[in-house]
Amino acid sequence: MLQLAQRVGRAKPSAIMVIAEKAKQLKAAGRDIISFSIGVPNFLPGEHVYAAAREALSHDSGQYGSNRGAEALLDAFLRHIEALGFSGYGRLNLSIGIGAKQVLYNLAEALLDEGDEICFAAPYWTTYRDIADIVGAKVNVLHCGSQQNYKLTPAQLDAALARKPKVFLFNNPSNPTGMVYTGAEIAALAEVLVRHPDTWVITDDIYHSMVFDGIGYHNFVHARPELRERLIFVDSVSKTYGMPGWRVGLLAGPESVAKAVTTLNSNHITSLPEVITAAAMAAFNGPQDIPQAKCAEFAGKRDIVMAALKAIPGVVCPRPQGAFYAFPDISVAFGKRHGDTRIDNDVDFCAALLEAKGVACVPGSAFGEPRALRISYTCPTAQLAPGLERIQQFFAELS
Ligand code: PMP
Repeated sequence: MLQLAQRVGRAKPSAIMVIAEKAKQLKAAGRDIISFSIGVPNFLPGEHVYAAAREALSHDSGQYGSNRGAEALLDAFLRHIEALGFSGYGRLNLSIGIGAKQVLYNLAEALLDEGDEICFAAPYWTTYRDIADIVGAKVNVLHCGSQQNYKLTPAQLDAALARKPKVFLFNNPSNPTGMVYTGAEIAALAEVLVRHPDTWVITDDIYHSMVFDGIGYHNFVHARPELRERLIFVDSVSKTYGMPGWRVGLLAGPESVAKAVTTLNSNHITSLPEVITAAAMAAFNGPQDIPQAKCAEFAGKRDIVMAALKAIPGVVCPRPQGAFYAFPDISVAFGKRHGDTRIDNDVDFCAALLEAKGVACVPGSAFGEPRALRISYTCPTAQLAPGLERIQQFFAELS
């Protein structure tokens, strides 16, 4: 029999999509479903983005574009990252992808040979694990439980880097926990990174515009600029501008890495379409009022989620300070029953919650933390409180 490549056997369909699909099916069958499952920002970009796309359509060349990204888009991105505190970068430090996801995939291809080690903290975004598995890298997961606010400590990082992994991948603000590292925490981790020069550092900071409580956004290069030589910053228009379906991601890093990703692009995606490029440029160049307003709105929703979770005995949820996720430890429910259904783990819990109350959350095991679940709280406010009430009722009904 003809065989598929081994790397495909290592790839798993996204656990997040499995729950989202189940929720969709129940909804189609007439059930009243509230979805806290999928991590979409749930707002549309400003009119100026659509106007730029329409304008680009009217003089579209219909041609292939640059493998690195159109110069005007790269320049817009350079101004965007300058405002985030990344100065001294030029076009040769940049490259594009079909969303941050493809940028990360390209980086894995560019930096990791089969058997090389990559390390990252758990809870992690599911795709990190899957991409590493597909390229045949060894994964060292650094477990960061709720007792340490799901945050990596300098001592953990130091021990992991002593093994000389090829890549350290870092996500701040975090999907799935909503945790944000303070300037002091970033500086302490940066000190450790400086002491271990044999490791590339990838920072996936695509939620940088969604930071609450005035703690600000920080990157290792802000604390230790010399890390620029081996740090790759990954960004996207998906979350900041409400454009997940437009599929634009970018990186800023050493020229050698940007060149490698550009070469990979030349062999698969070729380029971003002109209309998409124009829309992304408009998002970077245009008014930033929508991201700012959304950040304030998500901070308010975070408060609603936290108040509801606090009222449930035994549930522990480190307070998120960014993105749009909460990641409560729900292990207090393990070993209990809801009606006839026994709940032994996070997957049982999420399945029973969806079945009994019509609320969809993603089991924490998808993110390497089986004691928790992820709540994505970008749904309309009118659904948020009822959804949380149903979770409270579900807990109250456990025996
Ligand atoms: N990184 C993280 C942490 C994410 O949560 C996501 C999207 N869920 C991505 C990257 C991918 O974003 P994009 O839409 O740009 O591919």
